[in-house]
Amino acid sequence: MILLLLPVQAAGQKTIALSFDDVPRARGAFFTPDERTKRIIRELWRADAPQAVFFIVTGQLGHGDGYGGQLRIQAYVDAGHAIANHSNSHQRLSALTTEAYLADIDAAELWLKGRGAYRPWFRFPFLDEGGRDKTKRDAVRAGLAARGLRNGYVTAESSDWHLENLTREAVQANKKVNRKALRDLYVTWHVEAANFADTMMQKVTGRQPVQMLLLHETDLAALYVGDLVRALRKDGWTVVDADAAYADPIGAVMPDTAAANGTLTEALAWQAGQPAPRWYRYNDTKLATAMFREKVLDEGGGE
Ligand SMILES: [Zn+2]
Repeated sequence: MILLLLPVQAAGQKTIALSFDDVPRARGAFFTPDERTKRIIRELWRADAPQAVFFIVTGQLGHGDGYGGQLRIQAYVDAGHAIANHSNSHQRLSALTTEAYLADIDAAELWLKGRGAYRPWFRFPFLDEGGRDKTKRDAVRAGLAARGLRNGYVTAESSDWHLENLTREAVQANKKVNRKALRDLYVTWHVEAANFADTMMQKVTGRQPVQMLLLHETDLAALYVGDLVRALRKDGWTVVDADAAYADPIGAVMPDTAAANGTLTEALAWQAGQPAPRWYRYNDTKLATAMFREKVLDEGGGE
């Protein structure tokens, strides 16, 4: 019998890390914030997922409506995950002066820095890196560098926040939610978004950088993130540490596009002159809503 030995880093290597934004996030459809945190940690652990990164909005700590507090963050840290900066008050760069924006980052750093599992990564709220204002974009890039912070960019996403909102609204309206269909949408859309990013990155960079998937700290993650990890692996993905993702050389690239916002994949595609669409189709919230109504609420194809 002849065994054909393939190199370990075979062509077609798809690697991805997980990130969760807006932590601590407000109450969702199903769980108390404490219960949600426990479930996210447990789902990741059961799926044998490696270190993920949780991007903290420090201004949400200790607020009402069950946002929850420091203990939830500590639980993620104790479970082996990293934490990083998502600003103090989660505003768009386009809505603030450069000075106010950097001060908001500093306020979050005050809380974060020195904590175990802290990483010097900053994720732009709404992935807004300044839009068409290149002066502001560059000033904030310089401000991050001066602080020893780097851009905690995203390469793949499927607007999970929108699916979470649709679910919460449906539950609040006492609509019947088909949980299996909901899980299928959550899992399938994120796997497809990852593959979209992989294909686009290969087109525009000629290589396969470690992808960074954007998720939010949602009840849907608490229910299905383990299923998502297993589905990614089944699809040929290796799930790696957030540290490994941000060690990828792609992170040193500073794209120059007409408007600075969105994923790094989209920016690089735009810069390379790729035709639209440069993002995964179910980031179109209208399309996602129609699919949700049809599959999860069984309301038929209304559009
Ligand atoms: Zn956010």
